[in-house]
Amino acid sequence: MRFFKEIAGSRPRALLLDYDGTLAPFRVERDQAVVDPSLCNSLEGICRSGRTRVVVISGRALRDLIPLLQLDPLPELWGCHGWERQLPNGEYCEPELTPTVTRALEQAGRWMQSAGLNGRCERKPASIALHWRGLDEDSITRLRARVRAAWEPLAREPEVELHEFDGGLELQAAGRDKGYAVAQILRELPHNAVVAYAGDDYTDEDAFKTLSGRGLSILVRPEYRETAAELWLRPPEEWAGFLNAWMVADREGE
Ligand SMILES: [Mg+2]
Repeated sequence: MRFFKEIAGSRPRALLLDYDGTLAPFRVERDQAVVDPSLCNSLEGICRSGRTRVVVISGRALRDLIPLLQLDPLPELWGCHGWERQLPNGEYCEPELTPTVTRALEQAGRWMQSAGLNGRCERKPASIALHWRGLDEDSITRLRARVRAAWEPLAREPEVELHEFDGGLELQAAGRDKGYAVAQILRELPHNAVVAYAGDDYTDEDAFKTLSGRGLSILVRPEYRETAAELWLRPPEEWAGFLNAWMVADREGE
């Protein structure tokens, strides 16, 4: 692959990675979604080499993501779709929410509690998510309609937005997404840097679009879907092969 010839040179490089569905297979028990064993070696090798700037960009809250990653040292992390950031030196940037957003998220949370949906609810620093993974299609349709009816009025505020992801619905502070995180990282990288971003979800499309013209975007997904990504790799084999080739290119540059 021509891409790895570029990596094998001395140009600076960055590998930007989504977590759930990309590094970690989906689990209904979300707190047990650890990195796929077939990816662990390559991921650790790339992180250890220090030749690639590795960044994990997730919709999860960082407090939930960090225990699952099991990487030492931790790479740069972005959580809550661009609202949280933690640098490799541990410096943490927390979301600064307006009172309107805080109120909307609290209200959405209270409604979930009164509806008996706490078990499917994830409260994060800049959003609240409903998870329906594991339910049958009919139950998902009913649940989606019920929660949408309660959350859509809250999303009428311009500072709040409602979006669907693969496995649920999320009400979040508007103005940031994974594309925001990618744009920030691109601004910090030298202009000749080799960059790739891999993700599986609709929320990764913002990142794919932002990277367009500056790097390689990769959809990691068992089935193809309409996407702005340039490359489609099936997990685990094709995707594991890509990460392994990256690790080898890193080593060859040593
Ligand atoms: Mg994902």
